[in-house]
Amino acid sequence: MSGRKEQHTFMRQAISVEEATKHVLEAVRLMPTEVVPLAECCGRFLAADLVAPQPVPHFRRSGMDGYALAAADTAKASIQAPVILNVVDNIPAGTVPQRAVRAGECARIMTGAAVPDGADAVIPYEKTAEGGTNTEGFITCFVKAPVSPGDNVSPIGMEMEAGETVLRAGTRIGQGEMALLAMFGAAAVQVHRRPRVAIIATGAELLEVHDALQPGRIRNSNGSMIAAAVTEFGGIPYHLEQVADDAERAGQAIMNALAAYDAVVSTGGVSVGDHDIVYDITRSWDGDLKFNKVMMRPGSPTTFGVRQGTPLFALSGNPAACYVGCRLFLRPALRGMMGAERAAEPRMKAVLAADDVKSDRFTRFVRGVLTSREGRLEAAPVGRDMSSITVSLRDANCLICLPGSPHGHKAGTLVDVIVL
Ligand code: AMP
Ligand code: MG
Repeated sequence: MSGRKEQHTFMRQAISVEEATKHVLEAVRLMPTEVVPLAECCGRFLAADLVAPQPVPHFRRSGMDGYALAAADTAKASIQAPVILNVVDNIPAGTVPQRAVRAGECARIMTGAAVPDGADAVIPYEKTAEGGTNTEGFITCFVKAPVSPGDNVSPIGMEMEAGETVLRAGTRIGQGEMALLAMFGAAAVQVHRRPRVAIIATGAELLEVHDALQPGRIRNSNGSMIAAAVTEFGGIPYHLEQVADDAERAGQAIMNALAAYDAVVSTGGVSVGDHDIVYDITRSWDGDLKFNKVMMRPGSPTTFGVRQGTPLFALSGNPAACYVGCRLFLRPALRGMMGAERAAEPRMKAVLAADDVKSDRFTRFVRGVLTSREGRLEAAPVGRDMSSITVSLRDANCLICLPGSPHGHKAGTLVDVIVL
């Protein structure tokens, strides 16, 4: 028994989180593209640039409710001596002017409506007063202040010129991007497919979520955690059947999933216990094992490999390790597969707000609470951060990254945080 254990330990070569992330980012394949209705695009990544097919705005557009007129007519206008203009047209938004505006004339206009020829400015209502009907039969407008040419008129192309690249391939489609796509009539959009991700929990102790508790057994909570992560990161989760610690059956389940899905995430069975089966699988399979030990806590036995282009993320069964593994490796991988720029999880700097935080020879990813105090970000561990503890995941809004060190980490130290 112990001989086997030692052999396992020996066969594992610990690499840094950075190296491990690099392996993951290099190994994952870009998903093929598909064309989907705009309404389903949110959270996806553009597969092609969006180039403006027309300028914005594509007509001279009023920025105010008021009167379109020639600015020159208003040069001498004041409250005491208003300039009186004939109102010759009424232009609600969505309509086009019936006629041009000439000297001595103006047109009532609404925000967003097309400014008539002959007008080079719009004066807001507040700077005017409605006059009566004059002898020519026109309603008149009293202009009480001068305006300059261009005031409250958006010229053609003011926002964007035709041919301008509006969005680059690889951009994540969020609120603003949705607006731009809609603006340019992209009713269907070319994006990368969402990866279909198989989730396999291993462990003889695992019950299904709906099972009643039994002595010595626990419910599979990692499966739901991973499914949520997959969904949040943009993939489509598939809960496969949980498997007991049977190397043969687990191996078969993982190999089948690798053949049928775009990525596989397993949990459990990666450490050096007697029933740690993923290690055995990756020794005998026809895939490419990239790493099976990472200099991180929790999750040092995190294992990653690729078989025929399909990645296998074998995460530790410890809930916190599983969580950290999802964040550090699965998220950048799934996003990369969907067309995002391949990059490690972004980090920010914060001040450590607790003293003597336990260190490790490996980098620690400590569940923490990030707050802003007097303009600076502070991160404090939530406490109870053993890798077996699930409840503190509820309380954390960041992972505090503490580099390997022989000494505890002092309060006030500037540390990296990953915002959750
Ligand atoms: P393992 O990685 O299989 O050695 O599991 C490490 C610890 O995590 C053990 O205490 C397991 O009972 C627990 N564990 C394993 N899989 C799960 C799971 N799917 N959900 C919740 N806890 C788990
Ligand atoms: Mg296990």
